[in-house]
Amino acid sequence: MSSVRYPTTSLKPHREESLLGGHLWIFSGALQQAPRWVEAGGLIDVKSSTGQFVARGYYNPQTDIAIRILTHDPEEEIDAEFLRRRIRSAVALRRVFDPDITNAYRLIQSEGDGLPGLVVDRYADVLVAQVHTLGMERLWPLLLPPLLEETGAKGIVLRNDSQSRRREGLAVEEPVVVAGEVPEKVLVRENGVQFEVDPREGQKTGFFLDQRDKREALRKYTHGKRVLNCFSYTGGFSVYAALADPETHTASVDVSAPAMEAARQHFLLNDLDPGKHAFIVADVFDYLEEARRRDEQFDVVILDPPAFAKTQSARSQALKAYRRLNTLGMQVLRAGGILLSCSCSGVVGMDDLLGAISMSAQRLHRSVQLLESYTHSLDHPINLAMPETAYLKAVFCRVE
Ligand code: SAH
Repeated sequence: MSSVRYPTTSLKPHREESLLGGHLWIFSGALQQAPRWVEAGGLIDVKSSTGQFVARGYYNPQTDIAIRILTHDPEEEIDAEFLRRRIRSAVALRRVFDPDITNAYRLIQSEGDGLPGLVVDRYADVLVAQVHTLGMERLWPLLLPPLLEETGAKGIVLRNDSQSRRREGLAVEEPVVVAGEVPEKVLVRENGVQFEVDPREGQKTGFFLDQRDKREALRKYTHGKRVLNCFSYTGGFSVYAALADPETHTASVDVSAPAMEAARQHFLLNDLDPGKHAFIVADVFDYLEEARRRDEQFDVVILDPPAFAKTQSARSQALKAYRRLNTLGMQVLRAGGILLSCSCSGVVGMDDLLGAISMSAQRLHRSVQLLESYTHSLDHPINLAMPETAYLKAVFCRVE
């Protein structure tokens, strides 16, 4: 056992199995009783009903997930050195990126990198961190030095502005620079394509890094084609599509006017003429209805909506929304066209997404070939013992 003694709690009989397999969550119902002698957010040891050490993590009495596991090793103390080891391991994985080609990626993906509740994205020399849990908030002061030292970053923005923090009993805060200097816009490269990221005001941490590999995969389908990018945000997919061929035409649609302005800038930044492309601020559902009425047809349609369901109870409504969206998308896709359809709802599985696509096709008497399927890119590693943390699903299909 480590020299530090942590408060202890016990599981109900046989509740240790998934944890021994590497799962990192303990729901309150799995505990024999509510832990005592531990503060909210404090560290705690978990024992089996027979008294064996199972894991060490942090506790929150307020959430369904009572304990999030940090280590399964009884000898491992949760201190600055522990956090540094985890950060080092995360940094080592991202060395696959050649910074001359890609210098924007997720550096720490919460459970996927063994640091539940912490997300850190890297944009060139700037890190943008999000703390999602009370337990990680308590560890945060210890995280700053190794984050700077192990990455060589010149500045860190802490973006604790996600509403999900309220569930943890945490305040929703304004973005704040906690180390070094951070410019208003950070210029980054992704697969050699340039983007400008706003680390304070952009959605999430400024950019949707989890689509990098799908953007790259898209290029081969867009030569000289008419491409419709729905939920385009700052035009990531559109820029890749347009770079494939000067004859390619893209239309980007998003409800956010600032995102659309940024999309135009991204075309300029990559020596593309925004005047030759369309940038439409609109609700995608309305836009698709109208496009269908006008009999407009595209060769490639991209559907990358926000999460339609964040909880199990919202799942069936979400499945309906995916069906409706995919039906609308297919109605403006010519026969033989390519559909890239995505879902970033954690509670919607790959089968659900494929089901929505296939039902939409059936309704329209179209047939679908599944060409490629993806989850996140490698900088969003999935802990194999926790398939429920694989939130993103994306498929390329040909629709006849
Ligand atoms: N494809 C993007 C990320 C999409 S995130 C990329 O690669 O960067 C989802 C986007 O959907 C956000 O930009 C949000 O502004 C937009 N959005 C949400 N609801 C919408 C709606 N009903 N119609 C149009 N855009 C919407």
